[in-house]
Amino acid sequence: MDRSRITIFDTTLRDGEQSPGCSMSVPEKLRLAQQLDRLGVDVIEAGFPIASDGDFEAVQSIAASVRRPIIAGLARACKPDIDRAWQALQGAAHPRIHVFLATSDIHLKYKLRISREQCLEQAREAVRHAKSLCADIQFSPEDATRTDIPFLCQVVEAVIAAGATTVNIPDTVGYSMPEEYGQLIRTLREKVAGIENVIISTHCHNDLGLAVANSLAGVQNGARQVECTINGIGERAGNASLEEVVMAMRVRADRYPYETGLASEQLYPTSQTLAEITRVPVQPNKAITGRNAFAHEAGIHQDGMLKNPLTYEIMTPQSVGVPDSRLVLGKHSGRHALAMRCEQLGYKFERRELDEIYRRFIVLADRIKRVQDSHLLELIRDFAGSGFAAPKFPPAAAAIPPLARAASAVAAGHESYTGHLPSPNHALRANVFGEHHEQEDYLWGV
Ligand SMILES: [Zn+2]
Repeated sequence: MDRSRITIFDTTLRDGEQSPGCSMSVPEKLRLAQQLDRLGVDVIEAGFPIASDGDFEAVQSIAASVRRPIIAGLARACKPDIDRAWQALQGAAHPRIHVFLATSDIHLKYKLRISREQCLEQAREAVRHAKSLCADIQFSPEDATRTDIPFLCQVVEAVIAAGATTVNIPDTVGYSMPEEYGQLIRTLREKVAGIENVIISTHCHNDLGLAVANSLAGVQNGARQVECTINGIGERAGNASLEEVVMAMRVRADRYPYETGLASEQLYPTSQTLAEITRVPVQPNKAITGRNAFAHEAGIHQDGMLKNPLTYEIMTPQSVGVPDSRLVLGKHSGRHALAMRCEQLGYKFERRELDEIYRRFIVLADRIKRVQDSHLLELIRDFAGSGFAAPKFPPAAAAIPPLARAASAVAAGHESYTGHLPSPNHALRANVFGEHHEQEDYLWGV
């Protein structure tokens, strides 16, 4: 086994779908699963088959048509759940049954009303039964991070002996701290007999904003599978965000020398597909996939970006599938960015002319938050009519609306991204920035 290869287990369709407002129909789940396949995830948790007929059908149809990744179905630690999951996974090329049972005292006492001994026996029996059906078995001790550690070790040892091949350690309530979670993974590796024969997995929730940090701490301490979701959706504050985990390891390979099988340029298209299906927009400042993640407004940043993108960018937008970084024209913008945008609109100015344009631009930007192409064109027209020399080369393609031209330019350079969309314009309007009025606030390629 390659010690540096990290298995990416996507649970957008199971844990992610548990987010309020994120439920998906069977065809929508299938569409997302196909996109996850293009992204290159290793495991797709397609649903919880006993939970509903819709979940069963989704797992069944994904198992039948998405053939490369492992397809997992979730089951509580009891025979009816496991049998139902196995039934849904029948058509899968690579099926996995994922069995879970809570192990913390608070869950045992108040939720399950069973003793530790009963819990241990139930976990062992459930895994044994699942193993009689399927070779690939994952077990999760729910609420592991609030479980008594010696008891957790006992349960993990028992399920490995019963045939589990992956042991997933959930921070179900998002309570753990990075050093603490890393230490827990390390302790399991030191104390549990047979642990070297299985994959240890992380499953971290984001209630304190630490899901990604905790997952990475798990990896540094020997976990080799990370469970995560697109855009970090999931119960309450969500799960570890897949795109953040993957890019943290890629950008900081010096500190995290681990590999995944992901095609990172599919991250943004996958994020957009999910947002479009669930109609839950991505927060603008979301790392990697938010619409502002590669936008630069401050003048000094824009100037630096235009001279060399490495001044303010630790990864290129293209590397995660974002069509281009965006320089937003506002009152913090500098002359350099303004000149560039004017040129893209077809106007080139002398230094003195640009000074005047810039002065007028700042007055305007003070009044309206973001200066759009139409405002800029109006400003240039006023300027030309005020006695200054005429523009050096009026736009040849003046009849084409600026946004349409920007969109064509984007599409031309990024065919793989826009390939699945009806038209470049549609890409801009419906998929890149969400609402039409929002995207018009942004200027492309400045
Ligand atoms: Zn979860």
